[in-house]
Amino acid sequence: MAAGQGSAAGMPPGGARNGPERSGPQRSGPDRPAHDVEPALLAAEARCLRAGVQLTPLRRQVLELVLEAEQPLGAYALLDRLKAQRPGAAPPTVYRALDFLLEQGLIHKVERLNAFIGCVEAGHAHQEGHGHDHAHQFLICRQCGLTVELSDHAVAHALDDAARRAGFRIGNATVEVEGLCAACAAAQAAGAHGQEGSAASGR
Ligand SMILES: [Zn+2]
Ligand SMILES: [Zn+2]
Repeated sequence: MAAGQGSAAGMPPGGARNGPERSGPQRSGPDRPAHDVEPALLAAEARCLRAGVQLTPLRRQVLELVLEAEQPLGAYALLDRLKAQRPGAAPPTVYRALDFLLEQGLIHKVERLNAFIGCVEAGHAHQEGHGHDHAHQFLICRQCGLTVELSDHAVAHALDDAARRAGFRIGNATVEVEGLCAACAAAQAAGAHGQEGSAASGR
């Protein structure tokens, strides 16, 4: 007898893993036009409205800068960009706005880079119900700095289970994984292959 509907206990809540399309926005090259961040901004506005907090013009502007960036941005890089629109902006202005956006789960801080990145779920409708306390996993390329946020509930649950077995209750988990992105791994493999080739021919 084949197992029926009831056997899906091990499946992540959404039924499917997050596909690679989730990492799309961070991957658009500098030669392409900036990706459209307006839907994410509108979603952020709606979220703040529901939470009863204010996405002020300044906070919205900082969020827009974070979302528009190809890579995680440090606070001072953000300040520089903000100054183009608000010449009087000072570090506390940016830090206060960033604190708000972090609190609302609209952006994350990548500790390893000391930089900020828009939440991959911020512009998606199915964040509803998960709130902003979804688990975060970041893949960070040590070569080019490409940072991709995964939001894989299977990883989060595995970590939670392992922690519980150790008698630990996780409050907040951010996983930062350093390595090589696909492009840099391919470039390195090609380089290594070339070296092998020349070494072999030198014999
Ligand atoms: Zn996120
Ligand atoms: Zn890379």
